[in-house]
Amino acid sequence: MDVKINNTKTLIEFFMKNYISEIKVAVDMTVGNGFDSKNILEILQPEKLYCFDIQKEALENSKILLEKYSNCELILENHKNFYKYVKENIDFAIYNLGYLPKGDKYITTNAEDVEESLKKLLEKLNSKGVIFITFYIGHSAGQIESLEISKFLQNLNQKEYTILKFTFENQKNNPPYVVMIQKI
Ligand code: SAM
Repeated sequence: MDVKINNTKTLIEFFMKNYISEIKVAVDMTVGNGFDSKNILEILQPEKLYCFDIQKEALENSKILLEKYSNCELILENHKNFYKYVKENIDFAIYNLGYLPKGDKYITTNAEDVEESLKKLLEKLNSKGVIFITFYIGHSAGQIESLEISKFLQNLNQKEYTILKFTFENQKNNPPYVVMIQKI
């Protein structure tokens, strides 16, 4: 294996490159500066990618990075309302929680909106569809958010969803971790 997996980004890329294919509709629930979206467009090559963020600054940054992709739509909206824009069923979605890198640290995701969006997303997710969520637990707000969302995930029916958690067990200082959800 000629690939180094030492953080959440390389882990998700590893899955996208090796195990995820035939993606028609994808959603980036926290587009931020657009790096995850760019990866989705390059690796998974969906027919359509919807990207959401509540900050204009994030969408402006992403617009520059993603300008060459005509199959990508940037939407200034809370992800809990994504279903008002995405009418198709969904094959792939990603959340990268927390605040905009180099942006306002006080504008962050919150468990309530994430859960509300997840409830609707799970209904619209195709069978075998996949969701990745990256959690940041290096600060107390991120820890509280992760605990609340974990409670929600742990209550999902195992006959309907497989939920995997990938932690970097030997890394110091509470590194981020990834949850992968697949609809059975
Ligand atoms: N995926 C991004 C990238 O590749 O650069 C990083 C995302 S950043 C860690 C989290 C983003 O979530 C921020 O840009 C923030 O504005 C956004 N956000 C926070 N709450 C949100 C919500 N309820 N709906 C949509 N976006 C939200």
